[in-house]
Amino acid sequence: MSLDSLHDLYVDGLKDLYSAETQLLKALPRLAKAATAPELKAAFTDHLAVTRAQVERLESIFAGLGASPKGKKCKAMEGLIEEGKEVIGEDGNPAVIDAALIGAAQKVEHYEMAGYGCVRTFARLLGYDDAADLLQETLDEEGEADKTLTNLAETTINVEAEEADDGDETPTPAPRTRKRKPAARPR
Ligand code: FE
Ligand code: ZN
Ligand code: FE
Ligand code: FE
Repeated sequence: MSLDSLHDLYVDGLKDLYSAETQLLKALPRLAKAATAPELKAAFTDHLAVTRAQVERLESIFAGLGASPKGKKCKAMEGLIEEGKEVIGEDGNPAVIDAALIGAAQKVEHYEMAGYGCVRTFARLLGYDDAADLLQETLDEEGEADKTLTNLAETTINVEAEEADDGDETPTPAPRTRKRKPAARPR
């Protein structure tokens, strides 16, 4: 597509996001399945429902423009999902895998936030105020998803991942079997 106007760039950005979101519809259930912590599973499942509504918002914006949402593949999302799949395929400690899944998902949310921020601003400039409002709603949801993941990481999952380390820097109660007899005193 040739980019001769801000309108062209707006439509191009919307198509990119439509591709990104539809790729995520397939990826989020896999992330939910790979997660161990129930709260993380729930965060992915919740965001799947949110993502479905985001796709519908994009479809309604395209309907208003009389254009098709199809015709572009978001290569960045393809790559981000590819990185998420690398995590899913890894063996390891469940808490560490969960921490890695959070990191992968936050990269996705930040990519989406950048994309929606751009098209929201273009929509405002072009006078598509209804579309700008819809895009802002989605942008807010991506920010919420990011915050939820940060909270999960900081309050539990990263902490558990750190404790999963076999190293002895974390004070943990000594197991009973390790209890040593006091050294025999000379009489
Ligand atoms: Fe999204
Ligand atoms: Zn994209
Ligand atoms: Fe892209
Ligand atoms: Fe998202």
